[in-house]
Amino acid sequence: MKSRLLFLGPPGAGKGTQAARLCQAHGIKHLSTGDLLRSEVAAGTALGQEAEAVMNRGELVSDALVLAIVESQMKALNGGGWLLDGFPRTVPQAEALDKLLAELQQPIDAVVLLELDDGVLIERLLARGRADDTEAVIRNRLEVYRDKTAPLIDFYKAKGLLTSIEAQGSMDAIAERLEKSLS
Ligand code: AMP
Repeated sequence: MKSRLLFLGPPGAGKGTQAARLCQAHGIKHLSTGDLLRSEVAAGTALGQEAEAVMNRGELVSDALVLAIVESQMKALNGGGWLLDGFPRTVPQAEALDKLLAELQQPIDAVVLLELDDGVLIERLLARGRADDTEAVIRNRLEVYRDKTAPLIDFYKAKGLLTSIEAQGSMDAIAERLEKSLS
């Protein structure tokens, strides 16, 4: 199976859940910038304090801050596969990632776009009940996704790396589609 992966898709598409499951099944490292940032917030580090207010508004934390996190995590891996979930989220982040991966000689094998209708996304996010899952913040996160992150679809399409899957239906059904697209 392909083992250097990116998950792309709007908030609420189920990236985190499917990423955790896929990584567990295949022994690859799950790197979620959202999870990493939330643990910084919980630990009360300077970085966490800087990120918290931004995250609670549904905005993006600075490229420099997430890049520093991703770079140290990737460099700490000793080979093996990885799945980046929630990163990159902007074109500059994607360009910086390209540079880092060239340096590490670990090219991306595939970028998976999880696609889902807005109505279902909002329903799912409201059901999740995270601190940044109120309706106003959710709408902001979707807008930020459209503005800043969706351009990455064409960015990776142009590189011939993009594969899309329908993220609707049961967890098992989605997992099966994912496995198929990566085999
Ligand atoms: P997530 O768990 O991926 O939905 O991320 C939760 C929040 O963390 C986002 O709404 C952003 O505020 C922040 N975040 C996570 N990943 C990134 C990233 N790659 N760039 C900027 N902000 C991020």
